[in-house]
Amino acid sequence: MIEQTARLVVDLTAVRANVRAVSAGTRAAVMAVVKADGFGHGAVPVARAALDAGATWLGVTSAAEALRLRQAGVDAPVLSWLHPIETDFEPLIRREVDLGVSTVAHLRRIAVAAEAAGRSARVHLKADTGLTRNGASADDWPDLVAWAAKLAAEGWLTVTGVWSHLAAADVPGDRTTDLQLAAFRDAVAAVHAAGLRPELRHVANSAATLTRPDTHFDLCRVGLALYGIEPVSGRRHGLRPAMTLTTSVINVKRAPAGTGVSYRHEYTVRRPSTLALLPVGYADGLPRTAEGRAHVWLAGQRCPIVGRITMDQCVVDAGGLPVAIGDPVTVFGPGDAGEPTAADWATWAGTNPHEILTGAGARAERQWVIA
Ligand SMILES: *Cc1c(COP(=O)(O)O)cnc(C)c1O
Repeated sequence: MIEQTARLVVDLTAVRANVRAVSAGTRAAVMAVVKADGFGHGAVPVARAALDAGATWLGVTSAAEALRLRQAGVDAPVLSWLHPIETDFEPLIRREVDLGVSTVAHLRRIAVAAEAAGRSARVHLKADTGLTRNGASADDWPDLVAWAAKLAAEGWLTVTGVWSHLAAADVPGDRTTDLQLAAFRDAVAAVHAAGLRPELRHVANSAATLTRPDTHFDLCRVGLALYGIEPVSGRRHGLRPAMTLTTSVINVKRAPAGTGVSYRHEYTVRRPSTLALLPVGYADGLPRTAEGRAHVWLAGQRCPIVGRITMDQCVVDAGGLPVAIGDPVTVFGPGDAGEPTAADWATWAGTNPHEILTGAGARAERQWVIA
């Protein structure tokens, strides 16, 4: 085996347990969102684990991600929702990938591709109910629905879903969610008025799934919670982080007080200390914005990363701890032993856990375990 500088272990038992924990709180179907290679955990192994634990849908952003699942032999329903207008929709239609559609331009392209594929496309019409990102805004919704009804009547497509995405579901009590739900009900009513009968209405992400049953409708789209990160800070739903990023010490030196560390000497050793070098840096997903706050688990303690995090390396001040070359280091994990979590890293870096997970271990050796 060629040694990598970092190792990323994905606990598929945790993924399964998280799917069950989420499913216990809803009567709706659960979609495992495995975009961005399963938030860095590996889309195919996570998809299989999630389906095994009772998820019935998979969600991805792109044609490439959807087709990769199909090529791996995953035949569960898949929804893909972010498509450049020049996307070749034909292979997606042939392989029964459901398509999220926000514009008439996309709808017309999809209808042409359906004709070429010789079968009707399955589409989920997306309403922008207030996130102001993708989805048709209220002004454009009647046109999108009318086109969908026309193309459905001609046999080129089936409207299987109506959906939207929430802007502030992770802020309990935020009125934006109420306003979005009201707008969503209007959007669904317009679809029904056009004679369409989509089976699936869906708006909930992880935070909404765990905190707002009135957002569940027929399907919950669960990303973050699947990977074991609590989506609402300060709330506990018994989720278990699935990703552990580890490395090992590759150099150790004793440094007297006054020693400057790493580029520009932004850290100075205050008392004689043992400095441990780790072969991981921002190219491995350790954000520089966490400098001055980030810790790792070394020799049974949380030890601070000191000085600049560089592309491939960082230095840990182990103080007076006995540390040797080869000692194992946990950058983040489930937190059982006291090691930092991805959520801790997100706080240190001033970002969300999603960004930590997707950035972690870009060049790590990945391993999937069933505990
Ligand atoms: C990423 C994404 C989700 C999952 O969101 P989480 O907060 O990670 O649960 C759901 N729906 C859409 C449209 C998304 O882009």
